[in-house]
Amino acid sequence: MQIVFLGPPGAGKGTQAVMLADKKGFLHLSTGDILRENVKNGTLIGKKAKAFMDKGELVPDNIVIEMMLDTIKNTRSHEDFILDGFPRTVYQANNLDRELNKLKLPIDMVVYFKASIKTVILRLTDRRLCSKCGASYHITNMPPKKQGVCDKCGSELYQRKDDSEKTIKKRLEVYNSQTKELIDYYKSQGILKEVSGDMEASKVYSELSEILTPPFLLQRDASKQKELG
Ligand code: AMP
Repeated sequence: MQIVFLGPPGAGKGTQAVMLADKKGFLHLSTGDILRENVKNGTLIGKKAKAFMDKGELVPDNIVIEMMLDTIKNTRSHEDFILDGFPRTVYQANNLDRELNKLKLPIDMVVYFKASIKTVILRLTDRRLCSKCGASYHITNMPPKKQGVCDKCGSELYQRKDDSEKTIKKRLEVYNSQTKELIDYYKSQGILKEVSGDMEASKVYSELSEILTPPFLLQRDASKQKELG
């Protein structure tokens, strides 16, 4: 099953994708994470992408499309994946559709995380991430047990450079002008589902689980249970 998560930055796409990956075995393909990894490792893609990311602008389509289509082609055929943060323009969506049709892996569902500006600004300004495993925290709503330290792996937490108030505003502008139109793009394909990204993570997860349940996730739960013994 191929799922796309769509919505403004800070709507909770990454948090939910991590939860679904943990609990249901989805492969979580986050464009932002892959780009940040490239920046960290000083690759050619990272060098080209860094300035755009720091300013809160979109990395040019040609770079992102090639990077994500290569990533998808490298997944194993039986793997179900969530695309988090891709596509972000209609041009990217057209290219993705074309490639997935060729691979006979068309998108099954697009989940639109609808969230208010107030929610996303509050979430992003107080977001902290683990420098090693990428786990996400919020200093008041979802704090780590020990300040500045990841619950999962004990590594140090950090604040993303583009989570500053000025860059968040730019990212929201970019979302409104270039990404939001994908809601209609996927609505017209009849594959768009909506969840409220304003709720706390566990409630969003319950809503998502319901959307994804019959019959697909029930089967997945059973095989996961078997795997875990
Ligand atoms: P995210 O982690 O999804 O908030 O993405 C962080 C940054 O990575 C964005 O502000 C963009 O600069 C870049 N980025 C992520 N996904 C894309 C995409 N699909 N197209 C272009 N740039 C992207």
